Amino acid sequence: MRIITHSCPACGTVVAANELESNRVMKCPGLGCEAVLRFEDLSEDAREHFLDNRERYRI
Ligand SMILES: [Zn+2]
Repeated sequence: MRIITHSCPACGTVVAANELESNRVMKCPGLGCEAVLRFEDLSEDAREHFLDNRERYRI
């Protein structure tokens, strides 16, 4: 299974797509980082893949 993640552009913290999808907009979990991450920040290809396979990403 393809793992979809997003790296914070400010600090490089990696966030899983399912976290972004459930929150839509979330503060970066990186220590002391104030960046806001959005599901829309994922590439269109990654979003489509995730949404097509979202059942498999539910654990
Ligand atoms: Zn960050």
